[in-house]
This record gives sequence, C-alpha cells and structure tokens, in this order.
Amino acid sequence: MKTLDDLDVDGKRVLVRVDFNVPLQDGVVGDDTRIRAALPTLHELRARGASRLVLVSHLGRPKGARDPRLSLAPVAERLGALLGEEVSLEGETDVVLLENIRFEPGEARNDPELARRLAARADAYVDDAFGAAHRAHASTEGVAHLLPHAAGRLLEREVRTLEGILRDPARPFVAVVGGAKVTDKIGVLRRFLEVADAVLIGGAMAFPFLRAQGHAVGDSLCADEDVEAARGLLGDGKLRLPADLVLGRALAADTETRALDGVDVPGGWMGLDVGPRTAALYGEAIAAAGTVCWNGPMGAFELTPFAAGTRAVAEAVAAAPGATVVGGGDSVAALVRFGLSDRVDHVSTGGGAALELIEGRALPGVEALA
Ligand code: ADP
Ligand code: MG
Repeated sequence: MKTLDDLDVDGKRVLVRVDFNVPLQDGVVGDDTRIRAALPTLHELRARGASRLVLVSHLGRPKGARDPRLSLAPVAERLGALLGEEVSLEGETDVVLLENIRFEPGEARNDPELARRLAARADAYVDDAFGAAHRAHASTEGVAHLLPHAAGRLLEREVRTLEGILRDPARPFVAVVGGAKVTDKIGVLRRFLEVADAVLIGGAMAFPFLRAQGHAVGDSLCADEDVEAARGLLGDGKLRLPADLVLGRALAADTETRALDGVDVPGGWMGLDVGPRTAALYGEAIAAAGTVCWNGPMGAFELTPFAAGTRAVAEAVAAAPGATVVGGGDSVAALVRFGLSDRVDHVSTGGGAALELIEGRALPGVEALA
C-alpha cells in the first residue's frame, strides 16, 4: 500500500476520498469525529504544496439519486471552520467538496466513466476513507487506477493498526465480541478464535451460543441460523459466555426488568444485557490483556436499563494497560456516549471495513493503492 510518503503533491491538484458520512440533525452536523479524523491528511497535503484539494465523500444511502436531505453542504461549512479556510460545495475555492458522490448512479456500480470524470479533476489521488474501503466504488477503487495514488494518514493508520494486532499482538490477546447477530460476525469470530487467546461474547450474540449449549433463551433475539453457526464454534476452549443477565419484558426503556443470576431465560423475558458478574469477569480479563480488541455492545445499551454491561466493558477497555482497539459503529457510539473515546488507543472509523479486514478479506479500496 502506497502512503503519502510515496506521493509527490507539490503544485498538484489532489483528489481526496474522505469519509464524511456524519450524522446530520436538522441540517447541521451532529458528531464531527469523522471530519476531524481527516484533518491530518488535509493539513499535510496543504503544507506540502498541493495547489488544490478536491474532496469526495458519500453521505447516507441516496441510492444514486439526488436527495437534498443528504447534501454535503453542512459538512462543507463545518470543514471550513475546522480547517480555517474557505471550503465550497462544488465551487472555485482551493479546497472544494464535491456533492454527495452517492447521488451519482455510477458510484456504487464502479462506473469507469464516473471514475474518469473524477480523475480529470486532479493530478493525484489520495484515499483516506477507510470506512468505504470495503466497497469497490468509482470514487474508491475505480479512480485509484487512473491517477498516481496513495493512502492518506487515517487510512494508513487504520490498516496498520488492525493488521498489526492480528499479526503480532501483545499477549494475552483478548477479543470482546457483542452486538446483534452471529451470522454477521461469524468470520470475525473465526479469525479471533484463531489469533486471540480468549474471545468474550456478549450482547444478543450470546443467545445462539447459549441455546446451542441447551439453555433456554426465552424471548431473546436468537435466530435459528445463528444457533447453527454458533454450534460450529462452541467446542473452542477460548470462547467465554455470559454467566448472568439482565432481563426485560420488551426492548423498551420503560419495560419491567429483572436480574438473572444464571443464563436460563424464562418465557416472557428477553436477555437485554450481561449481568454484573459477567461484566466483572470480562473486566478482569480485559485488565490482564496485552491487547484488547472490542467490537459489539454487551447489551441494548441505547436503553438506560440495559447499558451497564456495555458501560462496564467500555470502562475496562479505557482503563486497560494493554493496547486497545475498538471498532464497529455502535460500539464506537457507546464509547462516545460514555465519554471514553479519548482513552482508547485506536478507535476505528470504519465499521464494516474493520470487520472485513479482521476477517482477513481483501479490501478493494486498499488493494487499489498498491
Ligand atoms: P457494532 O456496530 O458495534 O458492530 P452491532 O451492529 O453488531 O455492533 O450491534 C449493535 C446493536 O446490538 C445495538 O443496537 C444493540 O442495541 C444491539 N444489542 C446488543 N445486545 C442486545 C440484546 N441482548 N438484545 C437486543 N439487541 C441487542
Ligand atoms: Mg452496528
């Protein structure tokens, strides 16, 4: 993978693929983490004499058609404030942001004509959109083949950090995996079972494993296909499952709740968080780890009665002396909500891309930067 160290940008117009897929609230940027994350690359390109920066990003899923609610105009404004220079949307400024590239039907099809149009606007291409690197789109994979290219600093750090912990982790390497569905993360679980020393399971992810062991799961989220997938991994001695749970009648903040010291969920109840004993056991394993990689919340943390397990794991990761990495859109949202994102060594900006990299799949956006 080529990096900015390999690219001559002095006096050049540089097309930069960024990931400005940020939450918008009433036409204003909510969380600007992803915009800030691109600043080191943009500052470096300007400092090294790039004459013009043409930025490309997607926002949401407009499916190849214009949707004014998904315009990048609010992002251009916020970026200008953060960069300290004027940024226009499709204008004539030195730093220009193109309108949401997913308004173009050719983007998702990796249309060579769209890639050529993008390439014509610049002399060099820099890809700093790790979150989009698992997609072979015109603004990621397609255009990279048409211009001298390199990874930006953010994409470079994401790939190096994740590859580094998979190749040569400080041990013990503890992986914590939660979230909603086993089948979504089966490849990630397999890889962690290969390279990690312990894999701690939480979230709805736990129930297919518990059911495959013969426990009752009540009304907990637990698809049959997930039980089959879980059964295939159960024999692995590295796998650890919850010892206690917090139950609710329904997935709602005002539902009736109860603690369960054990994992046999009675009918009429759903497991919605890991219990305090599990949180403490997982916390101890995290504290003793040389490397921690966490993906997937321990419960329905968006609802206050079911947030304690995820909070405990987030706090343990933040306090851990080992190298810590957190990935996944919802896990990162949990870290941000608990005010802990600054205390983790590497917070991945790429949800799906990070998971695919962990699985060991080649990312087309990264391959194209060779
Ligand atoms: P990430 O985005 O970090 O990879 P996922 O998308 O896999 O995480 O899963 C996050 C979602 O899983 C959250 O919305 C959370 O509410 C939900 N979840 C976690 N545990 C449970 C549970 N026990 N029951 C229902 N939903 C859960
Ligand atoms: Mg998610």
